[in-house]
Amino acid sequence: KERNPGEPEFHQAAEEIIDSIKPVLDKNPKYRKYKILERMLEPERLISFRVTWMDDKGEIQVNKGYRVQMNSAIGPYKGGLRFHPSVYPGILKFLAFEQVFKNALTGIPMGGGKGGSDFDPKGKSENEVMRFCQSFFTEMTKHVGHRTDVPAGDIGVGGREIGYMFGTYKKLQNEFTGVLTGKGVGWGGSLMRTEATGYGLVYFAENMLHRRNDSMKGKVCLVSGSGNVAQHAIEKILHMGGRPITASDSSGFIYDEEGITPEKLEFIKDLKNNRRGRIHEYADKYKSARFTEVQQPAAFDPMWDIKADCAFPCATQNEINGKDAENLVKNGIKLIGEGANMPLTIEAINTVIDNGVMYSPGKASNAGGVATSGIEMMQNYLGSYWSAEEVDKRLQHIMKEIHDTCLIAARQYGFEGNYMVGANIAGFTKVADAMIAQGII
Ligand code: NDP
Repeated sequence: KERNPGEPEFHQAAEEIIDSIKPVLDKNPKYRKYKILERMLEPERLISFRVTWMDDKGEIQVNKGYRVQMNSAIGPYKGGLRFHPSVYPGILKFLAFEQVFKNALTGIPMGGGKGGSDFDPKGKSENEVMRFCQSFFTEMTKHVGHRTDVPAGDIGVGGREIGYMFGTYKKLQNEFTGVLTGKGVGWGGSLMRTEATGYGLVYFAENMLHRRNDSMKGKVCLVSGSGNVAQHAIEKILHMGGRPITASDSSGFIYDEEGITPEKLEFIKDLKNNRRGRIHEYADKYKSARFTEVQQPAAFDPMWDIKADCAFPCATQNEINGKDAENLVKNGIKLIGEGANMPLTIEAINTVIDNGVMYSPGKASNAGGVATSGIEMMQNYLGSYWSAEEVDKRLQHIMKEIHDTCLIAARQYGFEGNYMVGANIAGFTKVADAMIAQGII
């Protein structure tokens, strides 16, 4: 904490990992000898830069831009870009640190990184977003490359932004390579990348339920967020016969007692992806739903106080605190699958695990997105493309492998059924062994 002052999210992510891997360090003295943990906690490189662009009124705007290149022991840096006013190095270091473990779990050779800007895309015109992306990637181009560092989307960065950034890179470098993932299908993108994080999350949950001879069929599900991950989690829950009843954005949530149907989901997609509207419009249109405003920061979020079987937080970090976790437990929640990165506070994690709730950490259950980015990279290297069915099959296989890997690693150290400890141990040992093999550098 003294080395990284004022970065509570990074401390939180580090604390969780340090706690879980203690037994591994005790059993394998080489990890302490080679100071693996200390090395992993220090980014290999942290790039910070100015992003200047002109708004529609002709005024000059200045934002901060970053790329955290955290660890390249097992492959090129890989991880998303976030555009949100809350972005600062502490958030990106937490995300990059988590990403290192997550990428290791996918079984695809990818290191970890994360980047972004404090730019707020909300309320900006199409042209302003394009000019910002062009300025941002003019600098990023100097630091990335398809064998060096391959960014993707995250909060505030979807297909539109990836397109503008890819166009900038191509113009400056005069080469068409897979420098970004999440590209459009038809210009280097992979089918199913857009769906992959949300779908993968629900595949992971299905594996967890299967272990208890249960399934998603008939499960009432709380989903937070209404962006990329939330939309596709809702879609897959519907495919699997579950009943999603909530969605949210930073203004509040909608609760639809009758369930979000495929038709209503199309409304959310159009609202959020095309019209860039607010979630209360759902309740204006569908009378079976009601909108509840939630002002941040709140002592607790009433959305997590609704009776349901499964909860999938898919919005942002720390959206479920200790009180929310108590409410979920009180309402008989059986499973919590993290779609977002670190949506549960440490207190919330302890509460749900102590109460026997099945819980999967984001670095395992939302890894389908980056895994499919890895699949996009493979297709870019090969120069040939796979069908949606083929990619989906691979995604399902990877999610099952991650699920099983977590359980095996947890069992090995006496934490039967603890996905969080298993994910941390499996990710850590893979990266740690590669670091030792590559010497003290
Ligand atoms: P989007 O920008 O598409 O959607 C984010 C959603 O979360 C929006 O509904 C947004 O509401 C809401 N949200 C964002 N910040 C806050 C906040 N501070 N308080 C309340 N609501 C908020 O992002 P994604 O769906 O891509 O990402 C969601 C989460 O999933 C993030 O944690 C991300 O790191 C993680 N993730 C994403 C992956 C991907 O492939 N996209 C891969 C793995 C993890 P509003 O519109 O009002 O801001």
